[in-house]
Amino acid sequence: MKFGGTSVGDAKAILRVCDVVRGRLPLHPIVVVSAMAKVTDQLLQMARAAGSGDRKTALTLARELRERHYNTAGELLGTALFTQFHGDLGAEFEELEELLRGISAVGELTPRTTDHVASFGEVLSSKLVTAAMSAHGIEAATPLFDDTNARLTSLVGPLVDQDRVPVMGGFIASTHKGITTTIGRGGSDFSAAIVGAGMGADKIEIWTDVDGMMTTDPNLCPDARRIKTISFDEAAELAYFGAKVLHPATVLPAIQKNIPVYILNSRNPTCEGTRIVARAPHCKNFFKAIAAKKRITIVDVAAPRMLLAHGFLKSIFEAFDRHRIAVDVVSTSEVSVSLTVDSNESIPALAADLERLADVKYEGRKAIVCLVGENLREIPGIAAHVFGELSDVKIRMISQGASEINLTFVIDEDQVPSVVQRLHKAFFAELDPEIFA
Ligand code: ADP
Ligand code: ASP
Ligand code: MG
Repeated sequence: MKFGGTSVGDAKAILRVCDVVRGRLPLHPIVVVSAMAKVTDQLLQMARAAGSGDRKTALTLARELRERHYNTAGELLGTALFTQFHGDLGAEFEELEELLRGISAVGELTPRTTDHVASFGEVLSSKLVTAAMSAHGIEAATPLFDDTNARLTSLVGPLVDQDRVPVMGGFIASTHKGITTTIGRGGSDFSAAIVGAGMGADKIEIWTDVDGMMTTDPNLCPDARRIKTISFDEAAELAYFGAKVLHPATVLPAIQKNIPVYILNSRNPTCEGTRIVARAPHCKNFFKAIAAKKRITIVDVAAPRMLLAHGFLKSIFEAFDRHRIAVDVVSTSEVSVSLTVDSNESIPALAADLERLADVKYEGRKAIVCLVGENLREIPGIAAHVFGELSDVKIRMISQGASEINLTFVIDEDQVPSVVQRLHKAFFAELDPEIFA
């Protein structure tokens, strides 16, 4: 059972988590938690402040974080238990503050220290949830692991056998040398899948603040409806293109072991949520969902002198590789290529590098819109249908065919709400009751 930041955001939320876990005790759950809501962002902010030498801001932010955790612990544990737990939490904050002082003294922030700072969120939240569960009569344990599967079996397995509920922070990890690292933003979902797969779990539950995977982001479109069942491939595609309710990598260890993944709402625990399975049943609607990913930049690379030359694409992709920039959508003509990227910082350096080969232009504030459904290649006129709905919208790039299950295009970022709402109205007015709630 994985509880996201929104599900452990304050004392009330953590108490709901305790209730949900209590209801599952006969199933021998293992609990993976994220940092409390927004904490990872705040940790990264203090790391940046410290890195720029602004020790005061870094420590002020750390103090606020300490207060939030102490207040939550106080509310959850009552005075006696809190006094006992206080030192444990305090020691973590001493370490964090020490680290921030060190970073600001050096005035330099490396990826390694960034990971170290970011790791505190999950360490703190897993301690908090463990303490809260103990205070509410659920015997919890906090394992530390690095050789994950072996240790899952040797350390976590016995706890489960003793009817204990292991609680561990997701997201954070350790290298072989014992250096703290992290597995990418939103990575607690991935941790849950690693643990579930490593333990051969019957199912993996991702608990969050929405009823499940919805036909689109409910914040963008109030008409969004719950999807009851969706395939691994569709869910991964959606997650990748912005349905952040689920981390894309989550599905991998689960696919390999054919373990079903559920997305559930910790604020509405009786709702059935979304079941993610290897093969989705047939759906009468063309699409299962619409995702949108904002803050995209289009990079246009044109090289008239490369007309008909082979190796053009290779040299372009090599440049992206050198700058470690991941590309989402690509469309090409004989002498030009458009690509989308989401890491704005490295683009000027990339452009300077590419300019040796070709003319480069880039333009930010774009968004990728992605429609997902099974067998799209087999449906005649599907593209005409989609773009017919958007006849007044400037479409900057189009991609269909790389996977059978998505139709993707790029538009201006500020058009996202209206485009998503219009497509939702067009394709989800009538819903297949087998698939949608
Ligand atoms: P957690 O803290 O539990 O990890 P996240 O914020 O990472 O939660 O993910 C949940 C959020 O994902 C929801 O609150 C919702 O706004 C957003 N979201 C985006 N697209 C979708 C979608 N298609 N279905 C459900 N939620 C979505
Ligand atoms: N706390 C981490 C983040 O905010 C991991 C997670 O929440 O899944 O990215
Ligand atoms: Mg998340």
